[in-house]
Amino acid sequence: MGKKQFKAESKRLLDLMINSIYTNKEIFLREILSNASDAIDKLCYLSLTDDQVGLNRDDFKIEILVDKEARTITVRDNGIGMNLEEAENNLGVIAKSGSFKFKDEMDSEKAEDISIIGQFGVGFYSAFMVADEVTVLTRKYGEEQGVKWQSKGADGYTVTPVEKDTVGTDVIMHLKADSDEEIYGSYLEVWKIKALVKKYSDYVRWPIRMDVEHQERFETGEKNDDGSPKYDYRMVTENETLNSMIPIWQRSKSEVTDDDCIAWYKEKNRDRKDPCALVRVNAEGQVSYKAMLFVPGEQNENVFSGDNKGGVTLYSNGVMIMEKCDKLLHDYFDFVKGVVDSPDLSLNISREILQHDRQLRIIGQNLEKRIKGELEKLMRDDRPKYEEFFRNFGNDLKVGVCDEYGRYKDFLRDLLLFYTSEDHMVTLKEYVENMPESQKSIYYATSATVKQAMNLPQCQEVRDRGYELIYLTSPLDEMVLEALREQDGKSFCNVVTDDLGFETEEEKKAAEERDIENKELLDFVKESVGEDVNKVRLSRKLTTQPCCLTTEGALTLEMERYFRHGPSEELRKLRATRVLELNAEHRSFRVLKEAFENDKDKAARLSRVLYALAELSAGVNVEDPVAFAADVAEMF
Ligand code: ADP
Repeated sequence: MGKKQFKAESKRLLDLMINSIYTNKEIFLREILSNASDAIDKLCYLSLTDDQVGLNRDDFKIEILVDKEARTITVRDNGIGMNLEEAENNLGVIAKSGSFKFKDEMDSEKAEDISIIGQFGVGFYSAFMVADEVTVLTRKYGEEQGVKWQSKGADGYTVTPVEKDTVGTDVIMHLKADSDEEIYGSYLEVWKIKALVKKYSDYVRWPIRMDVEHQERFETGEKNDDGSPKYDYRMVTENETLNSMIPIWQRSKSEVTDDDCIAWYKEKNRDRKDPCALVRVNAEGQVSYKAMLFVPGEQNENVFSGDNKGGVTLYSNGVMIMEKCDKLLHDYFDFVKGVVDSPDLSLNISREILQHDRQLRIIGQNLEKRIKGELEKLMRDDRPKYEEFFRNFGNDLKVGVCDEYGRYKDFLRDLLLFYTSEDHMVTLKEYVENMPESQKSIYYATSATVKQAMNLPQCQEVRDRGYELIYLTSPLDEMVLEALREQDGKSFCNVVTDDLGFETEEEKKAAEERDIENKELLDFVKESVGEDVNKVRLSRKLTTQPCCLTTEGALTLEMERYFRHGPSEELRKLRATRVLELNAEHRSFRVLKEAFENDKDKAARLSRVLYALAELSAGVNVEDPVAFAADVAEMF
């Protein structure tokens, strides 16, 4: 059979592996053992429903075989195995997920990019860091024929059918010749293999066994001169189990420290950063379960799968029943990673059944409370760290508040932070606590950036009164406030669109009279600006600025901007009801009024310019910049 070529990306990675300048070559064993363990998981799972498998839980094992003369190390499992097609698809291609983000990283050809290999396991391919030839003998459960896959590395691989007596897989690695930098031969030493298994694979659920030779003292049967028995030493081989197997989450808190858990999490998730919160539960009672959950310290995108989601893996008595179970926690805690192990969960669980599983719901509810508690604790004890968490995952919480018509809003509200004019992040509760007696509402302004929000002309009066202002920079924020409705009895006030509530009755009356007085002029301005504007009125908020743009109704300029890239034409066409407000106290208004009386052309031009200025300060693009420029040029 001819040699087949690796797919292009695989080849590049392989080249890297073979000529690896990556120092942590020893991880190859962990990767190969994990694959073996996964393969056993699969067959064991199958055996729950298929009695043809003929193996009990106790029969499954992984063996490490060393042949010093042949210079090979073999990892053997009695797991699910692969058929010819699978061997080719799984071992001939990496990054089956397609996106293969890793490629981009490699394109830059920076030396530090290589370190990525260590952080995100490359699985099977890592064998080529230490081996110059890898042979895989495998037979899939349910098939008669075995498969031999063989490769010397970058020049390709062969796959051929072979006879194989047993189901499962042998990965035979022929070690490279020793060099000045690396003694590959050390991977044939028992002490080394033992140490590596302890270090990386101690919690692998299946026994990792190896024949270990050691000296044994024995009675020769002869007697010494003094009549005591004579002893001698001989080498005996014992089949030892190298890993302790008990999963870390099943051990008690006295046995395993939080630091141990964190180290386990980092290794398991290939995360460089410490998690920012850890929840450990050992619950007994209505439902018994053990859980170990982590809130990651950063958004950690897996470069291979493009998958940055968290996910909780479900086990029943140490047997994995579902990876990334999305029914346990609500989406707003999607970032949480970890494990839940409960003997009460049925093994033959499917995603559909799971959804209605009462036990699971109870566990989920309890865990959510615990996670929330940990986050609140973090907020109290280490605010900067909490803020970092919120920058990473705050959006999930915000979406959660809006989800299902605000069903979870009260559970989540105290976890939300908002940036304010005091240049800090506060919860709404804190905001309300800081409010002076005279302040009636929670003021907020929305814009594309904090800077723009800060400079909105409407904000000034609020700040002048010494009130704190929340700056929102995404339409999601607005929806969050909409969903929350109020905080401790205080309603929200959008400084751009809502009545600020600062006016006295007299001031209101005076303003209405002023509107009537200037009606003719305001109508003229509206007509001059044209269809872009829906209303023109005198402002009751502006202090130093000549004009501003505001809106009426639920749709704000921010939402309009957001929907402009919306999924449907209908959404993209949505436009807010625009209101131009003029500052009657500003010099520009007097000039406009004068022009309106003496020079209608000029008044029309000034109207258009004022509208454009209002658009600009609201962060909205001027519809026709050329016409605007011409209008401004005319003013000289
Ligand atoms: P990963 O394990 O991350 O999917 P690998 O490159 O380590 O990536 O392995 C690729 C695939 O090859 C695995 O997903 C699995 O389907 C298959 N495979 C590897 N080793 C074994 C094994 N010992 N038994 C059965 N299948 C295996």
